Amino acid sequence: MSKLRYIRYSRKSSEAKDRQAASINDQNTECEEYAIKKKLNIIYRLQESKSAYKPRKREVFDEMFQLIKNGKADAIITWKPDRLSRNPEEGGMILQLLQDGVLKEIRTPSGNVYNPDSDHLILQIHFGMANQYSRNLSQTVKRALKHKVERGEYPGNAFVGYVTFGDKGSKNIKPHPIEATLVKKTFLLTATGQYSLANISNFLYAKGITARSGRKFSKGQTHRMLTNTSYYGYFMYNGEMYKGTYKPIITKKLFDEAQDGLRDRSKPKVNTWRKASYNGLFKCPDCGSAITTTVKIKHYKGTNRTAKFVYLHCTKRRDVCTQPPISLEDFESKLLEKILGISIDKDVWNVGMKLLKEKNKEEINRNTKQMDKFHEKYKLLQLKLNGLIQMRANGELTKKEFMIQKELTLKEQASAEGLMQDVKQSAHDWIELAEEFLNNAFYARKVMSTGKMTEKRNLLMDIGENFLLKDKNLKFSFKMPYDVLLKPEVRTDGRG
Ligand SMILES: [Zn+2]
Repeated sequence: MSKLRYIRYSRKSSEAKDRQAASINDQNTECEEYAIKKKLNIIYRLQESKSAYKPRKREVFDEMFQLIKNGKADAIITWKPDRLSRNPEEGGMILQLLQDGVLKEIRTPSGNVYNPDSDHLILQIHFGMANQYSRNLSQTVKRALKHKVERGEYPGNAFVGYVTFGDKGSKNIKPHPIEATLVKKTFLLTATGQYSLANISNFLYAKGITARSGRKFSKGQTHRMLTNTSYYGYFMYNGEMYKGTYKPIITKKLFDEAQDGLRDRSKPKVNTWRKASYNGLFKCPDCGSAITTTVKIKHYKGTNRTAKFVYLHCTKRRDVCTQPPISLEDFESKLLEKILGISIDKDVWNVGMKLLKEKNKEEINRNTKQMDKFHEKYKLLQLKLNGLIQMRANGELTKKEFMIQKELTLKEQASAEGLMQDVKQSAHDWIELAEEFLNNAFYARKVMSTGKMTEKRNLLMDIGENFLLKDKNLKFSFKMPYDVLLKPEVRTDGRG
């Protein structure tokens, strides 16, 4: 038989929050049955119908407290710890008794035993003191995160294009082997200003990048992704910008271009180009409207057959316009004719590749000089940043002023850094572009005659600009360096 003298304490209030508690009778019964089984010596039996969310409202609780404090009893049996208290003050009173050894045990019929040696955290949680605990915890976490972001480690989970790696406490992100390339491509597409948020979301979806639900990115999600500075290596945390130590996927320059692309509403947004590859690409020079594609199905009753007519025409959005439509067939044959002006054969392709690789060596030398210049600029900005931190420490800047200045300086630094990366990359990109250039010129004929809609469109966007359709004739300029391929008889001021 235990020497401890127990108080049985039961409580249930009428408030909604207490609905899950058993009735006072049931609480009593469970405690008594358990006491018999464990041969516990209950000497006081207390109960009350009061809430325990606010302190100093329970007379019976006070009675229990005094009994223990005065040595009339030294243990409690109660249905669940939260019967004793749900507020920090009275919870603290109980814990103090327990810690002082005046209260030797709290027991529940489910078999939990709390004594002066046990970890009081669980009791704190039951007593409604856990709020304080989680407040403390979150402050600790915040402090740890602050150190983390100052080290340049990305706080939180990786986002599209990145994966998390590293040990707990020093986790960071790194580019995802496949997604990173897609993210870069997404920014490139956005920078053209030709794609709507819905197009971008479709593009991502087609490449397997979806929202957590498995659905397409919403416009909002797509927009958030495209305006996330973290992609160029500088992340925001609590309204403040930090320089990450992880590898950026894009440069600040491309990011800025994508922002322009997002803002640019003057360029036609492409919505239907999967079906009609020239929509939004060509314009009508007479009235400035976009050219669109219309499909008409005509049914011939006499012979009971249908024919499909596809033609391109001015949308006439802005004005009355008398420009005539042109059939897709005519349009494409005229387009092919023009493209042939820059098409090359295998021999030219070979010679071109050799020349370009030679030229690449010269490029690398030139880059080294540029690199030094940008590096100098970067160092100056670092000094400015240190100055800002000093001024903030001296109280010469308010927190807000500091944050604004820091963000501006970091963004400048990001630009300088981006330029350095560009220079580093350019030797590589240059070869890639040159290859793309020669390949486009080599495959142009094939793409235009047998390619898919999207291939045709991409080719046109790569090689040309200012596409116009006037009087059933196509007019556009070849971009540099495609214009140099134009055969003399076709070349007219670089315009095809
Ligand atoms: Zn027109």
